[in-house]
Amino acid sequence: MSERDLLMIPGPIEFDPAVLRAMAAPTLSHVSPEFVEIFGQVLDDLRKVFLSDDGQPFVVAGSGTFALELAIANLVEPGDAVLVVNTGVFSSRFGKAAELHGAEVTQVGAEVGDAPSPDEVEAALRQRDYKLVAITQVDTSTGVLVDVPGIARLAARYGALSVVDGVCATAGEEFRQSAWGVDACVTASQKALGVPPGLAVAVFGPKALAAFEKRRSPVRSYYADFGEWLPIMRAYEERRPAYFGTPPVNMIYGLRESLRQILAEGMEGRFARHRRIAAAFQAAMRALGLRAVPVREELVAHTLSAVYYPQGVDATLPAKIRTQGVVVATGLHPAIRSAYFRIGHMGTVTPGDVLVTVGAVERALLAAGYRFEPGVGLAAAQKALS
Ligand code: PMP
Repeated sequence: MSERDLLMIPGPIEFDPAVLRAMAAPTLSHVSPEFVEIFGQVLDDLRKVFLSDDGQPFVVAGSGTFALELAIANLVEPGDAVLVVNTGVFSSRFGKAAELHGAEVTQVGAEVGDAPSPDEVEAALRQRDYKLVAITQVDTSTGVLVDVPGIARLAARYGALSVVDGVCATAGEEFRQSAWGVDACVTASQKALGVPPGLAVAVFGPKALAAFEKRRSPVRSYYADFGEWLPIMRAYEERRPAYFGTPPVNMIYGLRESLRQILAEGMEGRFARHRRIAAAFQAAMRALGLRAVPVREELVAHTLSAVYYPQGVDATLPAKIRTQGVVVATGLHPAIRSAYFRIGHMGTVTPGDVLVTVGAVERALLAAGYRFEPGVGLAAAQKALS
């Protein structure tokens, strides 16, 4: 990959140079007053990014998978019933983690590219007393966006906690933890949060924290145990030093800078920018005759586009796009893996990046022998951006 290639996969994304520079600063002692202030600021800011009035943020070294496990390990006890709203590979992963932590897991799924309807979720909730409902806001394997507020409301009505995987959503897709009544949301640094891979982030609302505190059995993980991490996070927020596991000091510098940029843009502006960029990609793909994996408009994510190859074009297209200077992702969902590709567009993404990417897709499609009027996708994107 050339240093000038544009990274347009659904994470990791292109990072802002100021974030990368922040990470290159000398590593402070994790209990120094200077670092305690930085970490404390990060925790304060995370609450604003999740639009949570009263949640408890956690930042622990680990990838998104560990973020899922943080939620599961701390909320699930052996024998608990967990309902997974399944829209793809990462929802299944959520379920697998729950099973490993002793849950009895029920999946409510749909055809690839679809999401279960509210009625189907409610029918499942009527069947038994679920401890929690696991929701993947955007499943990166299908590009399907789930109606989080709708399902969180249903979960609350049936006395279950709503737990959201926001790995491919948080800080890009609209998300309002308090207003929507979401009990826990977990994410990772390398997507719309805009920091290289390595940080697992969680915000637990009051009901999730109470459920954790009422546990009858110990957390089945030493490193994930919020019994260990909660006093640490509370101490940093109160600007006191504390230690359980050494925090990834330089990653926290990066997160502080990225959160500063996110809040300077403002959450409403950020949600709107992701919607506008996604609309431009969708317009371009439609104009080129390429079909989205999500089967209905309201299911189409704003952080990535999952798009089927057109007739006569095969799974070598992403490699052809790469020779045009843009890196996109191949398919991931096993049922359709070689039939589609994925373009990430979150975080620092600009209108210019959209045009560069659509231009590269057009040239790769032409090289693959697909016939269309060159520039038709670019024109559609430009119109949507203007
Ligand atoms: N959930 C979702 C929705 C994801 O997109 C990903 C990563 N693509 C994960 C979980 C797992 O994150 P990680 O690869 O950082 O472990």
